[in-house]
Amino acid sequence: MTYTVGVTGGIGSGKSTVANLFAELGIVIVDADVIAREVVAPGEPVLDAIGAYFGPEVIAADGSLNRALMRERIFENTAYRHWLEALLHPLIRERMLVECQNARSAYCLLVVPLLVENRLTDLCDRVLVVDASAEVQIARSVRRDNSNAAQIKAIMATQASREQRLNAADDVLDNNDRDLTQIKAAVLQLHKQYLELSGA
Ligand code: ADP
Repeated sequence: MTYTVGVTGGIGSGKSTVANLFAELGIVIVDADVIAREVVAPGEPVLDAIGAYFGPEVIAADGSLNRALMRERIFENTAYRHWLEALLHPLIRERMLVECQNARSAYCLLVVPLLVENRLTDLCDRVLVVDASAEVQIARSVRRDNSNAAQIKAIMATQASREQRLNAADDVLDNNDRDLTQIKAAVLQLHKQYLELSGA
């Protein structure tokens, strides 16, 4: 099993930025958001179950999942959301595990926005939290997504609190008042630590 460092942080904290820097050092990145899309890609058998439950209209003619329609259905009814999560979460979890096992680098990074919320810390040997204050998260997300503070705050309300996340952390990368050069230096420091911990 490849030594696995879970990376998490709230929206706009800088997870992707940090993960990209580890990737530049040759570390394999396993991205939960990518896997969550892959498990419902056209042709995946789980789509049959989704179509049977929600109705065939949620599967488009090209075999892809109609995400907008799914979001609407789930928004209407939390039981729908629970059903879908019960179906997909084990598949996502299993695929993350396999990809980490197969990772061909000294250690791998498992990037999961909802690592703490979905109790996936047990897949990780170590947890790195990318930390930013709520103000910083909002300012960066608004700029990146061309959205507004209310939208970002609504998303933040569905995520773990800063405190809950920090409680789960083995390491914290402070991404508040730091520029890219400083972040790179912090990543390099962590990289050295992870090489040692992984026994590479
Ligand atoms: P996440 O993946 O956690 O949602 P991102 O890595 O996408 O966050 O970062 C959010 C936005 O903030 C991006 O546009 C990114 O370029 C920017 N950003 C991240 N870290 C910094 C930093 N230290 N200084 C300035 N901008 C940053």
